[in-house]
Amino acid sequence: MSATKTQAFVLRTQDYRDTSALANFYTRDHGKIHGIIKGIRDTRYRFGSTLEPFSLNEILFYRRRRGGGDLHQVTQVDALDLFPRIREDLERLSYASYFTELLDTLVEGESPSTEVFDLFKGSLFFLASGASPRRSARIFELKLLDLLGFMPEIKACVGCRAENPDPAYFHIASGGICCKNCVPDSSSRMPVSRGTLNFLEHVRRSNVQALYNVKVSQEVGEELEKVLRRFVDFHLPGKLKSVVFLEEMGFN
Ligand SMILES: [Zn+2]
Repeated sequence: MSATKTQAFVLRTQDYRDTSALANFYTRDHGKIHGIIKGIRDTRYRFGSTLEPFSLNEILFYRRRRGGGDLHQVTQVDALDLFPRIREDLERLSYASYFTELLDTLVEGESPSTEVFDLFKGSLFFLASGASPRRSARIFELKLLDLLGFMPEIKACVGCRAENPDPAYFHIASGGICCKNCVPDSSSRMPVSRGTLNFLEHVRRSNVQALYNVKVSQEVGEELEKVLRRFVDFHLPGKLKSVVFLEEMGFN
């Protein structure tokens, strides 16, 4: 059986038996994979990485099927970038943990996407560069939802198809924005400004590098945070541990 070499971010790890570990990786060439790394916690064996969450590694793995799912045997893990500038700052570390948990939760199975891989990598570089963690988070959330096909309609009313309705309301369960005539009379509707909708569209059309220096007003920033929180939560099975932590620390 042939070995596969690829770059991979560590998403989640779990100790397994005395010296081994199980890990979820997001790989550049194969999407998310689940692997077992035998002996990685045994000092007699040499691995070039300790499987830190969101570290970038080069891994070598052999495909294996076991029971209902794939559990690949990972025989080499060599760290390429541990993002030390993120790890030395609790707020940045908390945000990177959120990006990691969000990616692990929203992505299922081995559907390769170099765009998702590059987005995650670019967002970590962005966080490490000293950019605003909140802004990095909004860009990451929006681009990830868009790449995974979860982006709600933001150009036209989902009811009557009127373009750029003003005023506009978000109604996530309807799949996007509604005009004032079509919006359900529900507590889950949320007014959204033209500035926020324009920003969402701008982020969606731009690549991450082009967004590093984008500025938003405080009003748009706050509204974006609420809107994106709702989008993201709608696709999650429950509250993420990293989000609870961000809230507890007052970082969000
Ligand atoms: Zn309408």
